[in-house]
Amino acid sequence: MKPAPFEWHAPASLAEALALKAAHGEEARFLAGGQSLVPAMNFRVAQPAILVDLNRVAGLDSVVEENGALRLGAMLRHARLERDATAARTHPILAEALHEVAHPQIRNRGTIGGNLSHADPASEMPAVMLALDARFGLRNAAGEREVAAADFFLGPLTTALRPDEMLTEIRLPALPPRSGTAFLEVARRQGDYPMMGVAAVVTLDAAGMCIAARIACCSAGPTPVAAPRAAAALLGTRLGEADIAAAAELLRDEVEPLGSVQASAGYQRHLAGVLARRALLLAKGRAA
Ligand SMILES: Cc1cc2nc3c(=O)[nH]c(=O)nc-3n(C[C@H](O)[C@H](O)[C@H](O)COP(=O)(O)OP(=O)(O)OC[C@H]3O[C@@H](n4cnc5c(N)ncnc54)[C@H](O)[C@@H]3O)c2cc1C
Repeated sequence: MKPAPFEWHAPASLAEALALKAAHGEEARFLAGGQSLVPAMNFRVAQPAILVDLNRVAGLDSVVEENGALRLGAMLRHARLERDATAARTHPILAEALHEVAHPQIRNRGTIGGNLSHADPASEMPAVMLALDARFGLRNAAGEREVAAADFFLGPLTTALRPDEMLTEIRLPALPPRSGTAFLEVARRQGDYPMMGVAAVVTLDAAGMCIAARIACCSAGPTPVAAPRAAAALLGTRLGEADIAAAAELLRDEVEPLGSVQASAGYQRHLAGVLARRALLLAKGRAA
């Protein structure tokens, strides 16, 4: 298949890229790694009149750490983030989840900003962003606003990005001491989108009591799905097997899987409970 005709612009600066988007709005799409947009164009599911190619814009692919908090440039390739030593130290769940995203060739081109802006509800990283309580920097020609990951994903392939805005930066708060994280998924084959995926973050106090927990799932509804009731049930417990099993049971009711050709909604719900239990046990072990 061939894409519909389009104009290609390759701005050299962020200001130029934002000016182009401001001028053309919905007619224009940013081109990041092209791993979702180009196939969609080839199938003519997407027919943007104008592509604003971000690959020549400098300064959008940095990893900046400040006291354990991370700022990630939107054009950071999956593969670079997966191997980044700083991110591995501060937020090891990033590499753990990225390893499950597609195949190495796709991770060499695909970007974290493109992945999050694409907002596929089956995608791993949006769920990880919810679990990490990330905030996103969205820029237009006039300035920047910050949106929480929880408010960014509005529906399948739909985000809070306005027609003139670019996702420029992903901001991850530092994980407190004695925090543990884990991402687990079940997919038909390595590199496929998962039938279910669970990201878990827990924090313990010095006595081993759970003082914070966040859990989020992918392939669990029209957007990445947080499980606040399951997470709240863990607070004040020692994350014993029974505590975790009870939380996993709550999580099974919080997810809203839609079912697919690969898995019924009931099977996805079952996977959510099993993966939540395993991910929480793993996160607890890592926190300790
Ligand atoms: C065979 C295959 C398997 C895959 N498997 C998985 C998988 O298992 N899990 C998974 O998560 N992903 C998977 N992907 C998708 C992959 O992760 C893509 O890299 C990602 O979804 C899109 O990133 P990109 O940089 O390629 O974005 P692009 O394809 O360039 O863009 C995607 C969309 O985001 C917009 N966009 C891009 N950057 C920005 C920005 N900074 N601000 C605003 N809008 C922007 C574009 O205009 C476009 O609408 C797979 C892809 C393929 C081809």
